[in-house]
Amino acid sequence: MLCSIPAVNGGNAAENAKRRCKDGTVTPASNPILQRSSALTQFILAPNPGPMSLDGTNSYVISAAEADASVVVDPGPADEGHLRRLADLGRVELILVTHRHADHTAGSVRLQELTGAPVRAADPRHCHGGEPLRDGETIRAAGVSIQVLATPGHTSDSVCFHLPDDGAHGSVLTGDTILGRGTTMLDYPDGALGDYLESLDLLEAIGQAAVLPAHGPVLPSLEAIARAYRGHRLERLGQIREALQRLGRDATVAAVADAVYADVEPSVRRAAEMSVAAQLDYLRGRAGG
Ligand SMILES: [Zn+2]
Repeated sequence: MLCSIPAVNGGNAAENAKRRCKDGTVTPASNPILQRSSALTQFILAPNPGPMSLDGTNSYVISAAEADASVVVDPGPADEGHLRRLADLGRVELILVTHRHADHTAGSVRLQELTGAPVRAADPRHCHGGEPLRDGETIRAAGVSIQVLATPGHTSDSVCFHLPDDGAHGSVLTGDTILGRGTTMLDYPDGALGDYLESLDLLEAIGQAAVLPAHGPVLPSLEAIARAYRGHRLERLGQIREALQRLGRDATVAAVADAVYADVEPSVRRAAEMSVAAQLDYLRGRAGG
């Protein structure tokens, strides 16, 4: 499940890909849905669009130009056609997942069956034939160095993958920690605002790396988007503080969500309530401690 509040209608990447394919200019004829996202990465958009997954899950394929294998990040949903398209790209030597949500992991076991590649995640329950990821670990695979960064907040097991050699400033696969559009929900109580703000600090310090999100388009500067996300979070927090002054310190999550997220679509109301709960927990934890 996942990810954006509010869901903003932008270009549909699948439709764009089809259009570009008709033009015959951008996507390779051999695999018209494989899209280039950076020097060392491409992605296939999974067919799971929705209010929480934007256009769908971007399943990334990492590979150096001279490599004879690739790494897949986030197999996506259990959609046989999508998983076969990933498996048919050539030898897959490793499968990584950014976090536990089903729109990233439901296809993991089937993709392992199709490719024989181990699946690694921070949470051992989402590893299949591979070891859990360790914070700070550097993985060398498909001719590429991949650094594992623990970035809890969206969920407690969220990680990002830093590719320092990808283009001029490197790139970071951000999973749902940073999205291509909108903002990320915090999956309270597993997701926590204090953790999330620390993760944004960590990502901002990486600088101008390209942002390769699990949903939505690629963005040019991790530093800029991490700063903007923090600004948005602090603005919401200020609105929640004001709402509590009006509603009373013990106001319910639903009442605060009515006050602060009155404009969101019904389809993302539950996500809004979870983010409110995470923010109330943060504020009340601070007040109490
Ligand atoms: Zn997620």
